[in-house]
Amino acid sequence: MSKGMPDWDGNCGFQMKVDIDYPKGLRVQSMTTPNGIGTHMDAPSHFIKDEKDIASIDIDQLICPGFVIDVEKKAHADYAISKTDIRNFESEFGQIPPNSIAIGKTGWGKYWYDPEKYRNADKSGKMHFPRFSKDATEYLLSKDIAGIATDTLSPDGGDETFPVHHRLLSKGKIIIENLKITDDLPLSNIQVIALPLKIKHATEAPCRVIALSEV
Ligand SMILES: [Zn+2]
Repeated sequence: MSKGMPDWDGNCGFQMKVDIDYPKGLRVQSMTTPNGIGTHMDAPSHFIKDEKDIASIDIDQLICPGFVIDVEKKAHADYAISKTDIRNFESEFGQIPPNSIAIGKTGWGKYWYDPEKYRNADKSGKMHFPRFSKDATEYLLSKDIAGIATDTLSPDGGDETFPVHHRLLSKGKIIIENLKITDDLPLSNIQVIALPLKIKHATEAPCRVIALSEV
């Protein structure tokens, strides 16, 4: 998290300041931030009233297997990860395990340090970056996944009707956005540990995400 990072509205809103400094014996800082910024998690309550908030998500949904749908070579700003992409993963690596995190690797994360390109808004203000398709979302739900993660601002791309959010969050799944996907991340046999700040009643929260792989 840093000042000026890309966000949904294009004006960031993340601020950090020094309240007490070393001449007084220590440095104390405070920050002001939207909850849904940087690498963060959406809880079901982000879209669905009375569903689970960030602090109520089961730990088994936050520490679980993961797999990577790698579409980086073919993805473009209006690309949608398809059911076929996921079936292709399964024919190479085997069935998606239940309660796992589906990580969409679109390559868009390379624009993180260029907020204008990362948001990629057209003249009307609509943003364009890779997303998950409806059929991919339904297929993942049929596999009873724990949630999805994306290296973009939203698994819905710039679609402000948010169909993927609605489908997943209404089924109690989680969504991780602005994930940094490293080049050395194996596509299968990984364990994901995604721990958002445990903020009571929060619908979204910053989240540190790591993956462990067997070597
Ligand atoms: Zn979201």
